[in-house]
Amino acid sequence: MESLICSFCGRKYSAEELVWRCECGRPLDLDFKGQLDLGRIKDRPPNIWRYREALPIEDDKNIVSLSEGFTPLIAATISGKTALLKLDFLYPTGSFKDRGASVLISKAKELRVIKVVEDSSGNAGCAIAAYCARAGIECHIYVPESASPAKLLQIQAYGARLFKIPGTRTDVQSAALEAAKNIYYASHVWNPFFFQGTKTFAFEVFEQLNFQEPDTMIIPVGNGTLLIGAYLGFSELFHQHLIKRMPRLIAVQAKACAPLYLAFRSGKEEIPEIIPEHTMAEGIAIPKPPRSKQVLEIIEKTGGEVLAVSEEEIVEGIRILNSLGIFAEPTSAVVIAAFLKMPQREGEKVVLPITGYGLKTVDKYLRMGLPIS
Ligand SMILES: [Zn+2]
Repeated sequence: MESLICSFCGRKYSAEELVWRCECGRPLDLDFKGQLDLGRIKDRPPNIWRYREALPIEDDKNIVSLSEGFTPLIAATISGKTALLKLDFLYPTGSFKDRGASVLISKAKELRVIKVVEDSSGNAGCAIAAYCARAGIECHIYVPESASPAKLLQIQAYGARLFKIPGTRTDVQSAALEAAKNIYYASHVWNPFFFQGTKTFAFEVFEQLNFQEPDTMIIPVGNGTLLIGAYLGFSELFHQHLIKRMPRLIAVQAKACAPLYLAFRSGKEEIPEIIPEHTMAEGIAIPKPPRSKQVLEIIEKTGGEVLAVSEEEIVEGIRILNSLGIFAEPTSAVVIAAFLKMPQREGEKVVLPITGYGLKTVDKYLRMGLPIS
């Protein structure tokens, strides 16, 4: 069984201990280096489990899957520049979070867990609830009262128990942490097995670019679930000498809630205390991301940066996505807004993940009115 390790104080725990954070209070990482077996993956079905040797599940019988993954990577011209859009909203539950949920709930099954708790602005809750339904694991999801109604309905449809918590996203997490004293914490933020799933994003992009790395990735970041996963995936490719260099990872936040942006701009390691304002990008409205230090280190190591976009720029991003035939969540539009701001070098391959399906946020589209202009 794998070990969980604290990169701050060096303490180690067995995964069987079911701990979700270090005694020192920091998040834990998995002490595991996956291998990509290129000879074997090419004959496997197009889902995340084609990277079997890189996913830390011991016994195949514990795999909980809906054949998720291998989402399309398509070229698009945006304002005269070329981007590669990774259509990561095309998942069983309508968001990229299924990557993490499939691996995390498989591990929960392997650890003989019978009940889990998770807190989420919506998408991670939907994903964990769906995979728990498939695994026959009882599921409790804590959400902010303000989460999109479609997401709350979806969570309940999978049979999970829903707890609506008033206040901020931090209040939701506190309530879930109280419950996690007695229930396995299947957190997409704290639980390192989730990132073992989101790392498959990097493997797929590598395969789809004909076994090469992109130059740059622009990623929506609240807690950093996809950014940390992508970094893990590209790091494993790099250590196996399958790619020559790490892509530059650029994080995007909504200006209304941008603690990582503020820390990055001021050159600080710690994020400032902020009072978040309302943003349409609900999926990244996280005032106090527990893995902020890790996210900022990754940005630094890959030569990336953190950008922030306004609500008007997000609306423009939505309009552009819609004009390309894509109906995505407002959160996904932040990468388009950031791409518009960024100078592009000649021939630079820029990947933009489109992370959540628009039908999950019909309430927000209705509020904007149509046509969006
Ligand atoms: Zn520690």
